[in-house]
This record gives sequence, structure tokens and C-alpha cells, in this order.
Amino acid sequence: MKIEFIKEDELKASFILRNAPIAFANSFRRAMKSLVPTMAVDYVDVYLNTSYLYDEILAHRIGLIPLKTNIDKFNLPSECQCGGEGCPNCQVSLRLNVEGPKLVYSGDFISDDPETKPVYDNIPVIELFKGQQLMIEAVARLGIGKEHAKYQPVSVCAYKIIPKIEIDESCSACGECVKVCPRGVLELKDGKIVVKDVLACSICMDCVNACREDSIKIEETSDFLFTVESTGSLPIRTIMKKGLEALKKKAGEMNEILSLAES
Ligand code: SF4
Ligand code: SF4
Ligand SMILES: [Zn+2]
Repeated sequence: MKIEFIKEDELKASFILRNAPIAFANSFRRAMKSLVPTMAVDYVDVYLNTSYLYDEILAHRIGLIPLKTNIDKFNLPSECQCGGEGCPNCQVSLRLNVEGPKLVYSGDFISDDPETKPVYDNIPVIELFKGQQLMIEAVARLGIGKEHAKYQPVSVCAYKIIPKIEIDESCSACGECVKVCPRGVLELKDGKIVVKDVLACSICMDCVNACREDSIKIEETSDFLFTVESTGSLPIRTIMKKGLEALKKKAGEMNEILSLAES
């Protein structure tokens, strides 16, 4: 098994996972989405709210603001020495004390930890009119996407199977397959059909159905093209690494269960 990057920046990547069982490819996708811890606001203490929004709506909005953090500095509440009650090792407070008229943005929160803050400063939270006030403390903690979507570190995490496309000698070069392909995968070059861009193929089989000579074959392989986009809370490589670590931990637990069952 190996990974080859095609495109990569801090927040977006396309890579090929080669020689992997499909069950592993899917587990990897799910692990990146649901098992990598990120920080998000979990509850909000509202000391004063004279805005037009109810406390609950405000709290829901604040919970969905993606936060950047150094995840290695914090424990999951369930694994913390405080037993999940809340301490500086598992939670961070972000305070907001503002008065209208003002459009309040994510960047107006003042965090107790300089490394834990909204990914973007310009996410609108609420518009306050003259005389309206907000005084709140939002408490963020680590969690995983399996618990709540606000903890997902990815906005896109998908894969597709990369096919093997073969054209045999019976091909008459009629060009029908090139015409019907919606993705521009095939090309007629020097009287021969060539595969121009196999990664674009969606395995729709239109080319196979259009070929009267039965000359084109599409087969699934054990290579997968992944597209991953981060919400900004963690860099892509960290999401991949933490996802694989989570899978390894789960496999270890499974091994232990099996050994116990055998003994
Ligand atoms: S449709 Fe079939 S015969 Fe025609 S060019 Fe494509 S593969 Fe060859
Ligand atoms: S399977 Fe569909 S997308 Fe792939 S080459 Fe054939 S027509 Fe194009
Ligand atoms: Zn704690």
C-alpha cells in the first residue's frame, strides 16, 4: 500500500491510495471524517443577551465556527485527569463582550489560549443594534465527528475507484467511445484510441455500451483517488496521520479482543 500526492496545499489535497482493499479505503475515509479530534465550542454561558437572537440559536451558531488549535496540547474530556469535568488540559474559554451597533464577527472572540481561535476572523455571528449587548463565555473542548458534525475536520472527504481501461486489437477506431464519454477520458490519436486521463473516468460504462465491436473493457482496480478538504481546523497531513493512528488503535483493540477470545 502506498500514497501518492497529486495536488496538495495546507487545506486541500488529492492523492492516490494504491494497492489497498476497498474496506481499508473506506475505513480511512471514515476515520478522517469521524475519528480525528478537533476543537469546537461545546457549551455557552450567556451572562447577558439583549440581541434579537435566542440564546440557543446563538450557541448553535457559535458551535459551528471552526477553531484552530494544537490538538496535542489537549486531552479528550473522556481521557482527561479531571474525569471530564473540565480543566485547562481539556477545555478553552472564548469570551465575547460587545455592544451595538456592531456586526459581530468570529474574530471578536478573545481566547484564553492564543493557539485556539477561529480559523477565520470574518465569519459573521450576529448583528447588534444600538444599545444591544452580548456578554458570553463559550467553552470549547476536543471531540470527534462521530459525536457531532461540528467536530469534523473535513468539509470534503471522498474517494473513487481508479479503473483500468483496455482497448483490444478488434477496435476499428470508429471514435464512438470518444464521442459518448462525458469526461474526456479517451482520445483518437494517429488512428488509435488512447486513454488521455484515467483519473477523470467515473466508470459510467457509456463507452463500453457504445462499442459495437466489444473492444473496450473497464475494470476496477485496488487504487483509489481521494479528495480531501479541511475546514481549516487542522492541516490535511495531520488529518491523514491522526485518521491512520485512530485506525491502528482500533485494530489493536480488535486484536486484544480476539486474543482474549482464544485464551
Ligand atoms: S467504440 Fe469501440 S470500436 Fe469504436 S473506437 Fe471505441 S473501442 Fe474502438
Ligand atoms: S466509463 Fe464513462 S467516463 Fe470512463 S471512459 Fe468510459 S465513458 Fe468515459
Ligand atoms: Zn480535563
